[in-house]
Amino acid sequence: MEHLDNAPFELDDMIALRRDLHTHPELGFEEVRTSGIVAEKLADVGITVHRGLGKTGVVGTLKVGNGARSIGLRADMDALAMPELADREYKSTTPNTMHACGHDGHTVMLLAAARYLARTKNFDGTVHFIFQPAEEGRGGAKAMIEDGFFDLFPCDAVYGLHNMPGLATDEMAVVTGPQLASSDSWEVAFTGVGTHGAKPHLGKDAVTAAAHFLTMLHTIVARVVDPLQPAVVSACALSAGDFKALNVIPDVVRIGGTARAYTPAVRDQLEAEIGRLAHGVAASFGIEVSYTFNRRIPPVVNNAEVTARAHKAATAATGRAVVTDFPPSTAGDDFAEFGNRVPGCYVWLGNGPAQDGALHHNSRYDFNDDAILTGARYWATLVEQDLSA
Ligand SMILES: [Zn+2]
Ligand SMILES: [Zn+2]
Repeated sequence: MEHLDNAPFELDDMIALRRDLHTHPELGFEEVRTSGIVAEKLADVGITVHRGLGKTGVVGTLKVGNGARSIGLRADMDALAMPELADREYKSTTPNTMHACGHDGHTVMLLAAARYLARTKNFDGTVHFIFQPAEEGRGGAKAMIEDGFFDLFPCDAVYGLHNMPGLATDEMAVVTGPQLASSDSWEVAFTGVGTHGAKPHLGKDAVTAAAHFLTMLHTIVARVVDPLQPAVVSACALSAGDFKALNVIPDVVRIGGTARAYTPAVRDQLEAEIGRLAHGVAASFGIEVSYTFNRRIPPVVNNAEVTARAHKAATAATGRAVVTDFPPSTAGDDFAEFGNRVPGCYVWLGNGPAQDGALHHNSRYDFNDDAILTGARYWATLVEQDLSA
């Protein structure tokens, strides 16, 4: 792909745009400004633009020649509800909102590739550039699909990408199989009989029941799930009683948390086992319990054939060996909603060394502009190879 090496990809403009997006971050389904810029920059080079899928989602479609194959490339656009604590020229000007996951960079890299491909048209087929809202836990992918994404834009394969500190900015990791875990949430509420703290025998103590539940919770991964299958169960929220009433045993204790797995079977197992323990503890303490398990996003599992295509493109785009043994992450990404419906591949692009130890979702994290060229090259190469003329 020699001709790509000197391709400008409008790099100076794209770096400026990346910083502009960083200064003006928007939360999920609120990416009004961002999606407006994306739509304008796509339309500007003659790409057909469809707006409003999943509220603020944008899909750009570029069809060249008569090739029947159609692929989707996905970038997420949203920021996180957290303050930016680093001092940088292009620091967020929106209170408690920050691009701490690098989605500003994802947006710009796909845009750079789309504009390049619209000018060069060196492929045969259809590419859909998917600018997804609300990746950070608000269900943007699902919203786009429920609004008819695959009816409007049928895809034979879908591709996703995320920046990854620790890999160099000209380095990529492309691995077949599980990449990201399922990300589900659960909630248990124990309801006892509240009473005077001095007279526990007159009530039924949900606080002590909750303590037993919490220690037993960690036996699920340790003793029930196959040791060769990764799984995580964490309790992350707990509420009961009042520190201004330390002589009152409360009626209700609420506990909530997350569950992560890489296979449907382990996911089912976690759902069943957390509930079994909650009901078992409630029975032994003679109290009531309610249990809900909310399936949020499935695991991201890379399809072998599509991953081989991504690997080839990553090799050409970086000009170096692609990392193929990068470990899966216990984080989740709703790219899975796309990749579960058609064969998909989700890859990692280096973000350079972690600056001051700041990783994703840290209040000092920043996308590395040196990665823009690699990412744009990857997307463009992937289209030219997958839809080769
Ligand atoms: Zn994130
Ligand atoms: Zn992210």
